[in-house]
Amino acid sequence: MTTIAVAKRAAMAALAGSWRKAGSSIGFVPTMGALHRGHAALIERARRENNRVVVSVFVNPAQFSPTEDYGRYPRAFTADKQLCAACGADVVYHPSVKEVYPDGFSTFVEVGPLGRLLDGKFRPGHFRGVATVVLKLFETVRPTRAYFGEKDYQQLAIIKRMSQDLDLQTLVVGCPTVREADGLALSSRNAYLSTAERAKAPRIHEALLLGERLAARASSGRKVEACVRRRILRTLPGARIDYVRLVDAETLEAVGLPKARLRLLAAVRLGKTRLIDNIPVSL
Ligand code: AMP
Repeated sequence: MTTIAVAKRAAMAALAGSWRKAGSSIGFVPTMGALHRGHAALIERARRENNRVVVSVFVNPAQFSPTEDYGRYPRAFTADKQLCAACGADVVYHPSVKEVYPDGFSTFVEVGPLGRLLDGKFRPGHFRGVATVVLKLFETVRPTRAYFGEKDYQQLAIIKRMSQDLDLQTLVVGCPTVREADGLALSSRNAYLSTAERAKAPRIHEALLLGERLAARASSGRKVEACVRRRILRTLPGARIDYVRLVDAETLEAVGLPKARLRLLAAVRLGKTRLIDNIPVSL
């Protein structure tokens, strides 16, 4: 399988247009690169379900605040291209920042209430940047299907909402979180962890699993959240918790128990690294 790299928006749009004209379906996997098995699972699924596959690699400055890690975010384009080829992608689209945000760029997607909850509280403007770049990438590639990980559960919910609200032609497909053997969700940011932090990081997932068990007999979501928080602080001394929330799996709002489809989400800072994770909870 030869995978070609395309850097120009017009060339990417023309290639995807020629595929559509030939009747091919297009699967699309937007990423920020530093690809791992979690990304690979998305690309492989896109490969199985479509005639053509495009992976974008673009570290999107619009979704980082000035105090965040845009500058040091891992970049590994040669290895990324190899992984894309091994997973059967036809194209890696890797535009420059100027290509995506030329001089004078000034239009952004305004995300509704979903963008103000959870991560939205701690990363103001983050989802506005995500939604804007995803809409632009969709418009360039015009994919039949686009694949997103449940690892970034709120992002997936926001992209689904945007697709519905703005009548986008692309079907948004959510894919399960890929984990290390010890339960840690794969993330490009795991590379920031020190050896000691990496050894302790799976305790976040363990605490979420505890929450899942407690939810079956708890009288309120708040009690579950408090127990999960306590477990994290006890097993990860020095960790700072941004949030632990048990919410409706679709609206991401707090709900009374019992409720059929819930999601338990957490964001935790370990040293300089901010980790997020979530699991489904069904009662
Ligand atoms: P990123 O490069 O971190 O922006 O992620 C690109 C896409 O890969 C997003 O849809 C993520 O949700 C997804 N992704 C990242 N990590 C994982 C994982 N461990 N399992 C499944 N999908 C993932």
